[in-house]
Amino acid sequence: MSEKFSIRGLMRRWAMSPTARISFGLVSLLVGLLMVLDLVLKLLPDQRAMTQSVREQVAVNVAVQVKLLLNDASMQAPLAGMITEIVQQSTEIESIGIRREAGDLVMSTRGHKEGWAAPPLGLSTITSVVVPLNSGTAKWGQLEIGYRSPWPNTLMGWLKQPTVQLIFTISTASFVAFYLYLRRVLQHLDPSKAIPERVRVAFDTLTEGLLVLDLQGQILLANSAFRGFHPQAGDVLMGRSIKQLEWLVNGVHETADLPPWERALQTTEPILGIEVDLSRDGGDTRRALLNCAAIRDAAGNARGCLLTLDDVTALDQANTKLRSALTELEVSRDQIQKQNDELQLLANCDPMTACFNRRAFFARAEPMLKHALATGEPLCCVMIDIDRFKSVNDTHGHSVGDLVIQAVSKVLKTSMREQDVLCRYGGEEFCVLLHGLTLDQAVVVADRIRGRIEREVGSNVEGVPNLRITSSFGVALLGSGNAKNMLLLIERADQGLYAAKEAGRNQVQCIDWAEVGELVVDA
Ligand code: GH3
Ligand code: MG
Ligand code: MG
Repeated sequence: MSEKFSIRGLMRRWAMSPTARISFGLVSLLVGLLMVLDLVLKLLPDQRAMTQSVREQVAVNVAVQVKLLLNDASMQAPLAGMITEIVQQSTEIESIGIRREAGDLVMSTRGHKEGWAAPPLGLSTITSVVVPLNSGTAKWGQLEIGYRSPWPNTLMGWLKQPTVQLIFTISTASFVAFYLYLRRVLQHLDPSKAIPERVRVAFDTLTEGLLVLDLQGQILLANSAFRGFHPQAGDVLMGRSIKQLEWLVNGVHETADLPPWERALQTTEPILGIEVDLSRDGGDTRRALLNCAAIRDAAGNARGCLLTLDDVTALDQANTKLRSALTELEVSRDQIQKQNDELQLLANCDPMTACFNRRAFFARAEPMLKHALATGEPLCCVMIDIDRFKSVNDTHGHSVGDLVIQAVSKVLKTSMREQDVLCRYGGEEFCVLLHGLTLDQAVVVADRIRGRIEREVGSNVEGVPNLRITSSFGVALLGSGNAKNMLLLIERADQGLYAAKEAGRNQVQCIDWAEVGELVVDA
């Protein structure tokens, strides 16, 4: 027979709570004790004896009247009427008969002859009462009264019996009283005292806090580690609901509808690693990991829940420290990167104009040169020199000269495309590499820049009205005049610049090598 349909299974399914069972046992004991005491000490009145005594008394009274009427022959008819009237009026008397000593019935009500059960030895019973009728000293006969049985023959009749009602009332009232009292009292019993010492010691050796719950979430067991988790955990006692442990319930880091232990009971699947914050009054917060697993019977049904708490405060603190150390490391790494970038800028750029210096210029120029030589795409070099700059310094001072150099660099930068490379080549000299432009196109670009310098720089230098700044440009195309490397290309552009200076300044010049013939210059 399967567990489900066995008596044991049914008992388990409809099992009373332990409190109800104990109450029931106590009530049984109480009622049993009362019955024994009644038996020994006759606490309750003997209903049977009382009834019989009353019936006999009634019979005696009737017998007195019968005797008086029997003596008068004219009163035979009223006597018969009287006994019939008594039977009709009484709910207990079934029949009445008057019998001579010889055994013959002198007078009887209907059914007496058939229904009368003569009591053994002539002694009255509760249903058959006899009273002797004497004539002088000799026995004349007897009055027989047949009573109905006083015992009910229906369930309702039995239930109305005072003794049954008394036992029922005592049982019900004492069950309710015991149940309520035990429910209150059992909360204050220490479960650790109810379980064997060796089991308690075994649980107490665990460093994890351990709690055993029943199906209703009531605590059956808490080990010493659990009691040490929180100041309020010290009084975790049997019978209390886990819901009453607010420090635990409120600390669970979850938004689920049901707490983890209820989910574990519902699903019978373990629920692991739930974070719990166990805050204390002093502000000291401890972090724990909560695991819940259903305790299952052989049929796989949940019978309770095992709950463990693992203190991970130290680990959590170490993790927090590690995280803040990592954050600090990231900040200092960013700072170092920033400083590196600044150093890179300082190493690559001219601080006054923020243009590339020569080193950075050549680092970028070489790949452009290689690409141009490999693809045959045009690459032009433009050399720029501010005209008569010495006289600007001499006339207006070095600081004005600096402002002029900065203003010229600004015009150059804002005229460049992203792929062009600009460098401050010397004091007031700049060099530009223009990629993808033919010589003619580069000359046009150079002349446009020259025009901007002439128009914008002199008028923008603060404090020096009517300053006129011009510049000269030399342009060269890679390949022309044997310019196959960067130094030669710059040299050819420089020669153009020289030609521009010679031709009167404020202009763009490039040497037509086809006319001049290629020069051999040491690179
Ligand atoms: P040219 O038209 O032939 O180029 O005449 P120039 O006066 O510009 O040529 P020169 O080479 O004789 O003069 C350049 C001057 O630039 C000399 C130097 O004192 C000045 N100079 C170089 N670097 C700086 C600088 O950073 N600031 C200032 N204010 N002057 C500088
Ligand atoms: Mg110069
Ligand atoms: Mg100059």
